[in-house]
Amino acid sequence: MSIAQRLESVREELASSAELAGRSADEVELLVVSKTFPASVVSEVIAHGQTSLGENRVQEALEKQPLLPATIAWHLIGPLQRNKVRKVVGKFACLQGVDSLKIASAVNRVAEETGIVQPLLLQVKVGGEGTKSGFEEELLKKQIEELAQLGSIRIEGLMTIPPPVTHPDEARPYFAAVRTLRDLLVTRSGLALSQLSMGMSKDFSAAIMEGSTMIRVGSAVFGKRG
Ligand SMILES: *Cc1c(COP(=O)(O)O)cnc(C)c1O
Repeated sequence: MSIAQRLESVREELASSAELAGRSADEVELLVVSKTFPASVVSEVIAHGQTSLGENRVQEALEKQPLLPATIAWHLIGPLQRNKVRKVVGKFACLQGVDSLKIASAVNRVAEETGIVQPLLLQVKVGGEGTKSGFEEELLKKQIEELAQLGSIRIEGLMTIPPPVTHPDEARPYFAAVRTLRDLLVTRSGLALSQLSMGMSKDFSAAIMEGSTMIRVGSAVFGKRG
């Protein structure tokens, strides 16, 4: 199958999963993850209407950006180190891997200096071992009010990567836990937190069933990474 055909079948599966969940397909954004694939390959999905891309490495993303249309909304989906904050603020539509108050504060500081408001998602850890980065749930509950005070970031919601499972349905409790956590954080902070970035190539249907508003899909579109 060509990239265009695989993209189309991901879109179809997104729509049918949304329908099964009693949701509208418009409520779920497809973020195509272009990491490791060169701009020449990635341009194939852009030619077929894709307007947002996810990258997990800062350097790779910044090198690819000038080679593709300026209208693309770039999402940084990998962990964000403190020494990279200055490089990324203002360069991404959304920073999805913000996993500590320290990083959020650093982003806030640079955004304030730059005179912008930087959209981001808070990455949360569910399921204990197996998941590397992300806020611990209990810590995030304690820190959400302080995070909500940071005026030069816009916290749009949560992102998660569940621990590895053998069948995608086994990931559903983790996705459900993130949605429940989101609801609690909304009450506590007054933030809308409307985005739930969850679901990848193998488990995006399960994530949509549990309320995902953004699936991050790489290999199902481009094939296996080298
Ligand atoms: C690579 C990556 C994806 C996409 O994974 P696929 O299994 O190829 O769909 C999604 N989210 C994050 C955070 C990633 O690093």
